[in-house]
Parts: sequence; C-alpha cells; structure tokens
Amino acid sequence: MSNLGAEIREQFPILHQEVNGHPLVYLDSGASSQKPRSVIEAIKRYYENDHANVHRGVHTLGSRATDAYEGARDKVAAFINAKHREEIIFTRGTTTAINLVASSYARSVCREGDEIVITPMEHHSNLIPWQQVAKATGATLKYIPLQPDGTITLDDAENTITDRTKIVAVTYVSNVLGVMNPIKEIAAIAHRHGARLLVDGAQSTPHLKVDVQRLDCDFYALSGHKMCGPTGIGALYGKKELLEKMDPIEFGGEMIDRVDLYESTFKDPPERFEGGTPIIAGAVGLGAAIDFLTEIGMDRIHAHDEYLAKLAYEQLSQIEGLTIYGPRDNRTGIVTFNLKDIHAHDVATVIDQEGIAIRAGHHCCQPLMRWLNVNATARASFYLYNTEDDVARLAAALKNTEDFFNSIG
Ligand code: PMP
Repeated sequence: MSNLGAEIREQFPILHQEVNGHPLVYLDSGASSQKPRSVIEAIKRYYENDHANVHRGVHTLGSRATDAYEGARDKVAAFINAKHREEIIFTRGTTTAINLVASSYARSVCREGDEIVITPMEHHSNLIPWQQVAKATGATLKYIPLQPDGTITLDDAENTITDRTKIVAVTYVSNVLGVMNPIKEIAAIAHRHGARLLVDGAQSTPHLKVDVQRLDCDFYALSGHKMCGPTGIGALYGKKELLEKMDPIEFGGEMIDRVDLYESTFKDPPERFEGGTPIIAGAVGLGAAIDFLTEIGMDRIHAHDEYLAKLAYEQLSQIEGLTIYGPRDNRTGIVTFNLKDIHAHDVATVIDQEGIAIRAGHHCCQPLMRWLNVNATARASFYLYNTEDDVARLAAALKNTEDFFNSIG
C-alpha cells in the first residue's frame, strides 16, 4: 500500500479534469510527466520578475537570471551526485545529450575496427547516434544479447565488451520493459577494457535515486520533462577530465573565449557546450522540479512507482489473453502489454473513451519490437501522482475492452 499518489495529486492541476466524461487517469508519464504547481509557478515567477539574458548582463535582472540558471545547474549536480558543478551541461533533453557525446567524444576516439556496445532494448535516441558514429568512423556496433525475459546478463556483457570497445551505451531503465540494468557492474566491465560508459537516464532519473559517482559512469543523460520539469530542458553529466578534452559541436555566442577573424578559442566546460542563449526558464523549471522531488524523497517515489507497477502486473495478468512483456520483478513504473490480437492503438483508443491515457506503438524501440515479435505494444506508466484506484480503473477498462472485442469477434 502507498499513499503517495493520493497525497500528491492535489498539487497537479492538470489531473483534475474529465476526459470523455470520466475523471482523467494519466498513465503516460513514461512519455512525459505532468507538472506540479510549484514548477509552473517557478517558471511564471521567473518570467514575471527576473528574466533577462544570462552571463553577459551587468544589470540586476541579468545577475538574477544568471543566478537562477547557474543555481539550477547546482541542483542537477546535487540531484545526481556529480562531483563538480561544471560536469553538468544543459541540453534540450536526453536525445541532445547523447548526440553531443556521440558527435564530440565518440567521433574523435573511434577508429576502424573499434567497437561500440549497446543493447537491443535501447530507445532510438541511444541507438541511431551510435549507428551514425559507426558509419562515420568504421567502428563496429555490437549488441549485448537479451535473455528471453528481456533482461541482460553480466556474463553476456563480459563476452561482448572487449579491448576493442571504446564506448558502451546502455539505458538504466527500459522505456518498454521497465527493467533496470546493472549499470555499476557494466561500468566496471567497460573500464577494465579501457572503454567509457554512457548511461541513458531518461527513464531512471524520474524514479530512482541516481548517484553518478557510485555508478561510476562516464556520461549520463536525462530529460527534465519526464521528471516533473518542463519540456525543452535536460542535461548531460560527463566526468570533468573527459569534458575538458572534448570539442564543442555548436559554435556561437556564450561559448567563446576570444574570437579573431580567422581563429577562435573556447571556454571551459560547461559553457563550451552551451552555445547561444541557453534554456534559462527551462533550467529554472527543472530546478523547481528537483526541489519538489527531493522534498518527497526519491526512495519513497521509487517504492511507490514499483508498488503500482507490481499491482498492475498482478491485476492485468488475470485478464484473459493479455500478455505482459518483460520480467515480473525488478521493474520501475512501467507495464507493457498486448491484449490478444487487438492492435495496441485500438486498445488505447477504446480506453481513452473511459478517460484513461496510455501509450501505444513502438515506443521508439523498433528493434525491441521485432525481438518481441510484435508491431506495437500498449504501455501503462506510473508516477508519483498515480493511485491504486488508477490501476483498478485500467484493469477494469482492459477487461471491458476484452469483453467487447470478444462479443464482436
Ligand atoms: N531514452 C529513453 C529510454 C526514453 O524513454 C526517451 C524518451 N521516450 C529518450 C531516451 C529520449 O528522451 P527525449 O525525447 O526527452 O530526448
């Protein structure tokens, strides 16, 4: 039993509405989470009182905006336990963060015959950038195979990562299967072979207490909008000694040291990687989201999301003809399934009529869909504002859907 959802829902204005004549049940936080009042207010307050461009201004608003922006960097650093604030680069989200590492770090270190190691469960954002690096450099893209339940084993990681491996890129939590990967152990294997580990933290940062020093990953990518923050802001964590050696990939204002007619020099990280006017209000919103999550406590959020996923697993597995993908245990707030041979889009459309929002499709994981031997799946994803009642509404709606298709089929 967990009371968190019932306690916290009040703070999320969007949840208090009817959709198609029913109270909204929002089960699509894996795609994007909803925002508490404190985050919405922080962005409003910033624009109403403090907005100006950052870093260059000598006037008061410029200083306030700079303090707000740089203060948000401190919050991200503390939230994932980075050693230095300079190790946090603001990006548009996880996708941009991974592309930054692929375009800057990976392209400079990979040569023909080198290897990049990923898994078949990766989101396209942590797959296509590595395909592109492999094509551009002649490196080989290799996959740690999946077990029948969709997990990876350390034995397979050991067998796939070699002395030719330069980069290992793995998601911490799968956005389809919900499984958590053994990141700390994979980091140790990668480092033993002289490779670097990038972690896709899009689905883990909202749900788990993340400690990049404990994990000993070299890069870590996250998205603000999945963790109660606004869209358009995310971050890349990179170990200082690596970021310092990396070249920028975007050039312009804010990131330069000195510009001459034919040559320019660049600032140290993080500014070197933040060309142009940054996402100031986004960072302020992300900082407020971090305050909000921290106050509740990530351990409590983790336990709640895991509990709801387990409850959903139990209730959904009793529905005739419903297949749940991924292991029973070791999953955060995600349950992915199909109902008989009804297309996942039809399932999602039918239950939307009852006010229940779930996602259907390939979830930006086409190779994983092929591995599961399906075109699409339906996915319910739970977060801190969901309740046991939401799970029960989902289970009842799916049961109705099954009955309905039974009656016409
Ligand atoms: N990786 C995973 C595991 C994800 O779930 C997502 C978002 N669905 C991303 C990467 C990409 O995140 P964004 O779209 O915020 O860049």
